[in-house]
Amino acid sequence: MKKECEIVQDLLFGYQDGTLHTASKELVEKHLKKCEECKKVFNEMKEDGVEDNKQEEEIDYLKKVKKKMSKKNKLLIVIGTVLTIIILFNIFIFVYYYHEARKIEIYLNNDITEEQMEDIKNAINNIDKNAKIEYHSKEDALDELKEKFKDNENLLSGYGGDNNPLNAYYVIDTSMENARKIESLEESLPGIKQITSNLNYNPYEFLFSKIAIELTSN
Ligand SMILES: [Zn+2]
Repeated sequence: MKKECEIVQDLLFGYQDGTLHTASKELVEKHLKKCEECKKVFNEMKEDGVEDNKQEEEIDYLKKVKKKMSKKNKLLIVIGTVLTIIILFNIFIFVYYYHEARKIEIYLNNDITEEQMEDIKNAINNIDKNAKIEYHSKEDALDELKEKFKDNENLLSGYGGDNNPLNAYYVIDTSMENARKIESLEESLPGIKQITSNLNYNPYEFLFSKIAIELTSN
């Protein structure tokens, strides 16, 4: 390689960037006109530069796409989380409803006879022989109420023994469908004071009524 070629090729980068002084620039231009070798080197350099720019553009584009995607992903994650919470909450409400709302309470008259109690249990078992029947005596009912209002003991301190205005009751755990049938026994069986159920609530009303009861008794 000629000495001049060496110098020119050293200057080519600067020439391409446009950072050369006028004298050096003129030297390079003059040389490139007459030297095929250096012209070839310069052309290759220009092509590489174009390639580099293209690659940078591609990388920029990919970065932008990635940024957009991660924004989109974050949004999807938020939406997904919210939807999951809503779905889980609804599943909870329905499971709770079908587990709890089917329980009905049969309040018994104070003068109910043993025979009438047997008749009631038999009538329930005729509807659902697997129904769970839980008996709560008057005393149980009062204890439960006192437990509920234990922070306010004075409220119920006068009650007990013969002074108990509450009624004994059965809690019946059966299916929704059978609960409705048992509910309709109220009229036909002597000894029943009242049957209460949550069957006419929808799952949401039921949950919120339970929450309201909890809040007011605490
Ligand atoms: Zn040359």
